[in-house]
Amino acid sequence: MTLGAPLKGLVGDKTAKVLDSALDLRTVGDLLRHYPRRYAERGRLTDLASLHVGDHVTVMAEVQRTNVRPMRQRRGQMLEVVVGDGRRTLALMFFNQPWRERELKPGRQALFAGKVGEFRGKRQLANPEYQLLDGDDASDVAEDFAGRLIPVYPASEKIASWQVAKCVRVALDTLEPLPDPLPDALRDERDLIDLDAALRGIHRPSSIAELDAARLRLKWDEAYVLQVALAQRRRLARMEPTPPRVRRPGGLVDAFELALPFTLTAGQQEVAATLDDDLARPHPMHRLLQGEVGSGKTVVALRSMLTVVDAGGQAALMAPTEVLATQHARGIRDLLGPIGMAGELGAADVATKVVLLTGSTPAAARRAALADLASGEAGIVVGTHALLEPDVAFRDLGLVVVDEQHRFGVEQRDVLRAKGSQPPHVLVMTATPIPRTVAMTVYGDLETSTLTELPKGRAPIATHVVPPEKPAYLERAWDKVREDVAAGRQAFVVCPRIGEAEGDDGLEPTATDDEERRPPLAVLDVFPSLRDGYLHGLTIEMLHGRLPSDVKDSVMRRFAAGAIDVLVATTVIEVGVDVPNATVMVVMDADRFGISQLHQLRGRVGRGAHAATCLLVTEAPEGSGARERVQAVAATLDGFELAGLDLAQRREGDVLGAAQSGRRSRLRLLELLRDGDLIVEARTAATALVEADPELADHPALRETLAEVLDEERAEYLEKG
Ligand code: ADP
Ligand code: MG
Repeated sequence: MTLGAPLKGLVGDKTAKVLDSALDLRTVGDLLRHYPRRYAERGRLTDLASLHVGDHVTVMAEVQRTNVRPMRQRRGQMLEVVVGDGRRTLALMFFNQPWRERELKPGRQALFAGKVGEFRGKRQLANPEYQLLDGDDASDVAEDFAGRLIPVYPASEKIASWQVAKCVRVALDTLEPLPDPLPDALRDERDLIDLDAALRGIHRPSSIAELDAARLRLKWDEAYVLQVALAQRRRLARMEPTPPRVRRPGGLVDAFELALPFTLTAGQQEVAATLDDDLARPHPMHRLLQGEVGSGKTVVALRSMLTVVDAGGQAALMAPTEVLATQHARGIRDLLGPIGMAGELGAADVATKVVLLTGSTPAAARRAALADLASGEAGIVVGTHALLEPDVAFRDLGLVVVDEQHRFGVEQRDVLRAKGSQPPHVLVMTATPIPRTVAMTVYGDLETSTLTELPKGRAPIATHVVPPEKPAYLERAWDKVREDVAAGRQAFVVCPRIGEAEGDDGLEPTATDDEERRPPLAVLDVFPSLRDGYLHGLTIEMLHGRLPSDVKDSVMRRFAAGAIDVLVATTVIEVGVDVPNATVMVVMDADRFGISQLHQLRGRVGRGAHAATCLLVTEAPEGSGARERVQAVAATLDGFELAGLDLAQRREGDVLGAAQSGRRSRLRLLELLRDGDLIVEARTAATALVEADPELADHPALRETLAEVLDEERAEYLEKG
């Protein structure tokens, strides 16, 4: 058997079908990479207090007593088996299977699997599957579970954990010697066991030490293979030829800098110089620009766009939402003034044209924009996904800027890139601070620059948690809104939900959403109640994703112009919205947002010279995880610190994002934060290897593994369409 062999030949048709449909496992390799979720220890019983109604669980417990009685409603008998962990008990109900009483004798230990239900306030499993772990009739268990550690697999209702274990055992027994993708030298140097031993060790460990060695080795697989792929990608990018885009004296950049109403911060100047260098090289730039909201990334990016236009090329800025793209276009036109008005009255002598392209651009305007891009008339285009459409063509696309990249996939970046007649330079901007080792993984093919200081003259943002226990606090929040509006400022009120139609409301599910809670507050409810209540008399409007885009745009424009005092909105205002006159933000049900999201939201205020306030309203009880998250946001303005906290609470898949699902599915053991050191070491080792042996000629096993990984990635991309 090899890793690529289909499971059918190994476990038979029927089981193979179940493994496929229930767990998505098709090959021997899939099965062997389906690692146990945890390990039960012989003799150590599962804590029954940790069971949640509705979960499918596998528990180790001891039979305490049994009882057979006739059923009330129907004919037949019911066997109740009460099992315990030493403290708590759980009832197992078997219908019409009285013979099981002979197996499930008091004192016997077994693994039980089933869905946790509730009957008259007591938790129970109905018709559970079980696997006895001791006694005569449990003899084949000894073979399936080599030691005292019993693997518990992510299982499903269709197949129990120990049935998976049985398949794994058969696979391991028939496996041919495996070529090892990790170079011998690396394994020697790091004391890593070989792949075969690692797979046996993780599935059938005889000791904790063996398990640890297996996990370490398999984590290296994940980190190293990915880093080799990234190192190769960086190397290829370095070798790709493209025309250098060198700053031209007397061009748009000079005029732009002269007209800018402020001076760039030292950080902005440094990044600008780095970008100039990158653009002047005969190879495409691939750079990530990180910086807090409001740190001035867009201004720096715009300067690079002008550099490229000066050099005869064009630049595209892609944003994740229509609101944001529209605002970018407006902001860029404002900043450029006469130099962005080519073809219009009042344009400067040296000028370019800025066009906007989104899903709701009217047909005539779209035709005109496409013509301007194809002819080169327009130097700059700002848009959404609409830029990716096949009929969008450029005369000479020299720079692609992607704002808020975590909302786009790598593939989308590549689609836009492919619109250059020669490979364009790429700048990715993100306002979500990314811890270094995460950046190395998620954006591992990019160089990184960071803007750390905010432009001078920004007043700090004061953040307070507003608990609901005291209604007076909430009243004071609305007083604060009134005060600031009276002083000429503006306010945001943010709600987690739009309202009415449920489900499609951009509500971010959080880890704590379990018990029954009232639905989160909705814009459609909060808006009228404020308008007719606390904020009566102010100019108040709402903004959310279900409004037609011309309405959204008009609301945003009037808010930006100061014609609206208070905007009640969903997270549509999260990214990039820039209204320096807004000084108060009240976030309703703040605990329903993630940490990073709250931080992003807060960045919408405090963008001007006036002191700003962010009020986080939450009903989460003191001491609860939800309340602590909100308090963490209130306690610091440091986005990197908050990003770390956020990450620590989320699963890796969420961090990598849906667009990175290919990578997610391969990171099973590696934890981006906790395994930071390992990732850094793997990156160094992988980079060195690719320098020395770019085509991996001397490392055939690694080359093969990598080819499989890239195939998978490509297949997934095609699947997604
Ligand atoms: P980001 O894209 O990082 O959120 P922007 O580039 O949109 O930040 O800048 C935020 C606001 O700060 C904009 O209004 C911009 O004009 C202004 N700004 C940018 N750089 C400076 C600076 N050096 N001094 C003063 N204001 C600045
Ligand atoms: Mg921005």
